[in-house]
Amino acid sequence: MATPPPASDDALIGFRDEAPPSAAAPASPWRVLAVDDDRGFQQALAHALRDLHILGRPVELQQAYSLSEAAHLLARDRDFAVILADVVMETEDAGLRLVKGVREMLGLHEPRIVLLTGQPGFAPVDAVMESYDLSDYCLKSDLASRGLKNVLTAAIRGYSHLIAVTSARKGLQLILEASNRLTTARTIEQIASAVLVEVADLLRVPAEGIVCVEGQDDTDDAPPGGPVIIGAAGQFETYLKGSLQTLPDRSIAECIAAALNGHHPIARDDCQVLYFPRQHAMADYAVYLATGRPLEASEHELLGVFAANASKGFGNVALISRLDRMAFEDELLHIPNRAALMREIERLRIGNGGQQQRMLLIDLDDFSGLNDAFGVVLGNRILAALVAPLRQAFPPPAMISRITADLFAIVGPAALIDDTRAMAVFDQPLRLDDTSYRLTACTTQIDLDAVPGSAAELLRAAWTSLRAAKLRGPGSRAAYDPDIERRAGERFAMMSRLGQDLQHDALFLVFQPQVDLATGRIVGAEALLRWRTETGLIPPGEFIPVAEKSVYIHAIGDRVVQQACAALKALDAAGLGTLSISVNVSARQFDAPGLAERVAAHCAEAGVDLRRLALEITETAVMGHFGQVAQALRHYRAAGGSVAIDDFGTGLSSLEYLRDLPADHLKIDLSFVRHLEHDERSRQIARMIIKLGHSLGVGLIAEGIETQGQADWLRENGCQEGQGWLFARPLPLAEFIAACQSSATP
Ligand code: C2E
Ligand code: MG
Ligand code: MG
Repeated sequence: MATPPPASDDALIGFRDEAPPSAAAPASPWRVLAVDDDRGFQQALAHALRDLHILGRPVELQQAYSLSEAAHLLARDRDFAVILADVVMETEDAGLRLVKGVREMLGLHEPRIVLLTGQPGFAPVDAVMESYDLSDYCLKSDLASRGLKNVLTAAIRGYSHLIAVTSARKGLQLILEASNRLTTARTIEQIASAVLVEVADLLRVPAEGIVCVEGQDDTDDAPPGGPVIIGAAGQFETYLKGSLQTLPDRSIAECIAAALNGHHPIARDDCQVLYFPRQHAMADYAVYLATGRPLEASEHELLGVFAANASKGFGNVALISRLDRMAFEDELLHIPNRAALMREIERLRIGNGGQQQRMLLIDLDDFSGLNDAFGVVLGNRILAALVAPLRQAFPPPAMISRITADLFAIVGPAALIDDTRAMAVFDQPLRLDDTSYRLTACTTQIDLDAVPGSAAELLRAAWTSLRAAKLRGPGSRAAYDPDIERRAGERFAMMSRLGQDLQHDALFLVFQPQVDLATGRIVGAEALLRWRTETGLIPPGEFIPVAEKSVYIHAIGDRVVQQACAALKALDAAGLGTLSISVNVSARQFDAPGLAERVAAHCAEAGVDLRRLALEITETAVMGHFGQVAQALRHYRAAGGSVAIDDFGTGLSSLEYLRDLPADHLKIDLSFVRHLEHDERSRQIARMIIKLGHSLGVGLIAEGIETQGQADWLRENGCQEGQGWLFARPLPLAEFIAACQSSATP
């Protein structure tokens, strides 16, 4: 007994090899193995079984005359329904050893074994029957009286029953395994081709077949009308994705159509059509398989169970792919959305096959202007019309997605993704309803491995570069620059720190004296903001531009005015009630209505005369939003306050604006003051500004005076006031008060 029991890691193979004789061939004989060294008995047996039929089938006898002969035979051929075995052969327990070998070593549990003995009481009947799974144990001499046929019939019945049970178990196991394999499918196409393979496997025929669907509501590329071939194997592969009508073999097409129309499976001698109903599969499916033979009843049963499982599999996949669409598709353009982009980036990063992968961001210029001009409906249609040329420029494997309104992202192999291709798309006008639209866009590109971290971080990094491109103007491209990102990161960190520090009085004012150039007496001060942090002072030139990009600029503005008012009160208390203070105001502060009124309210609250608080606003800020800013400044002046135009001379203001400028002072920018002694052009500009001030009837203050020569020149040329390091650096309030007191004493 050399053959080990089937090493069954694969019940499939077991099932195929051990197909029950009853199922495979109805007319095939029952095979009986008789093992006995008693030749006389063997002869009689052969004679008795010669024309015997049991349960409608003939009996075929194999004979072995010893345990070892039986062992050799069974090593090659195990397909027996019944084994008749003599107990005593070469040894006194040879028969029992045969039983043990069959059951334990060969692992054969279905064949029924009838143990025969010549001598009554030789082996204890009950004990032997119990421990060896025997069907019978009888005396040879009793065989005649009990009837050999009866003994064999009982054994064969037992065998058939066992085979049926085993086969059903194996069939179910097969279906379970097949169903498990189907669950790994993610798309209808995947499950369709998997079903063909599994059905063919189940029936042990080559995979030659078709899966058709009717009424699947979310297939985009379904030809209108009629069933569509969504799965095809073997000779049918060429018809994949076509309509059923394209099948040249009309009889197959009709057979499939009949299953779909009749809502039932169809069995023919050479093929099977399974039908998966809509209520389980979410659409009607027919699976055609060329079997080349009629199926057994048991195979039909198997197919029935399989079809029920596979129907649900189709239903699940349809559900998943619908959910997938909802989660990963842009509703308007029916292309991947932001979530899909994130997923694709992660996927490409994991399995890029060593290829460099890249992302390109495309942001249309002034799309909101286009929406305003033509309406959202046309705007949407223009976006939709853009998808086709983008697809043409970036064919698969590139993936085109929409992140937000007019921002597209394209990911794929670096060789395919570059901004020159994108720009070429915009070189052509976009045609829609006989109208041409000229679009431009800003782009940025970034290699997927340029930034560590999540896909969202990569997108954010690219977005920062894109913003830099946008700032440069329409049609700009910007390659990803980690520096831009670093600076953006720093700005962000600064902004959030500023938000916190605003609560904690970390922002305070210092005061730079402004002096009368003729007398050298201090007449007031410019209040300059300082931010003290753990790492030291941050200059306003760094944090004011950041604050201007946030809502904090308003709170900062209020804080500055309040502190300036408190300083004026302190000056009063020190007997310096005639001095004034000017505060700097950002253009953004004029976004909130009623700036003049708010400043006035702060002064009133502090009990300070508004006339002693001047507002400084840069020339560029006034010119940028002239109407709005000028009006607020007019209000402020009407209330009694004064206004100085800061950094004058740097903004190239037109004369028309200057005439209407609501100002009391012009501040000559330090860039001209700095070069007064050596540069004729700076002197010319300073002279012009002073002249202009005189003709507009406003006062002049020069800032950044560092040398006596500069001060002298300015005084001689008609500038009344000045500030700068020559006189004093910006000072803390107490020091400023002390400086004023010593300046006041002659
Ligand atoms: P600004 O209003 O033109 O202020 C003059 C700047 O020149 C100040 O720099 C001042 O310290 C500096 N300065 C004064 N004298 C000299 C000098 O002799 N030589 C040189 N080289 N520089 C001199 P600071 O304090 O760094 O302020 C820079 C800018 O920050 C200010 O320019 C102003 O635009 C803005 N700023 C300051 N405080 C505030 C504020 O409270 N609110 C707003 N919105 N902006 C402020
Ligand atoms: Mg200033
Ligand atoms: Mg200035």
